[in-house]
Amino acid sequence: MSQRILFLGPPGAGKGTQAQLLCDSSGLLHLSTGDLLRAEVKAGTDLGLEAEAVMGRGELVSDDLVLAIVRSRLSSHAGGWLLDGFPRNLAQAEALETLLAELGQPLEQVVLLELDDSPLVERLLGRGRADDNETVIRHRLSVYAEQTAPLIEHYRQQGLLVNVEASGTVEAIASRISTALD
Ligand code: ADP
Repeated sequence: MSQRILFLGPPGAGKGTQAQLLCDSSGLLHLSTGDLLRAEVKAGTDLGLEAEAVMGRGELVSDDLVLAIVRSRLSSHAGGWLLDGFPRNLAQAEALETLLAELGQPLEQVVLLELDDSPLVERLLGRGRADDNETVIRHRLSVYAEQTAPLIEHYRQQGLLVNVEASGTVEAIASRISTALD
């Protein structure tokens, strides 16, 4: 199976859940920038303080900040990995490509988890995280459409993209993902 994977898709598509399952069964390192940022917030670090307000508004944290987090994790890890929630815009995608070229570890596959807006909002409202109220959710979806969705075409052109329907049960989606992975 591919050893260097990226999960792309809107908030609520189930990237985190599916990434965790796949990493538990395959031994890949699960790298979620959202989880890492929330850990910084919880620990009350300077970085966490900087990120907290931005995340609460549903905006993107600065590229430099998330890139520093990803760089330090990937540089100190020898095996395979799965990126979840990063990159979220073209600048981050380009910075990632530069980093992976430096490390000699090119990306192998990008899994796009696809789901319509209305089930996304329903799932996110049910989750109840600090940034999961309806106004902030709508804003996160528009940030996704404007800044992150262009990455779909970017990775399609590179021949890395596979599409997975993200509706149904956790098990059904997991099985579609494993079928889609080379
Ligand atoms: P979701 O996919 O449900 O929006 P995440 O946990 O991936 O949840 O992200 C939560 C928040 O963390 C985002 O709304 C954003 O503020 C911040 N964040 C996560 N990853 C990034 C990133 N790569 N670049 C900038 N901000 C990020």
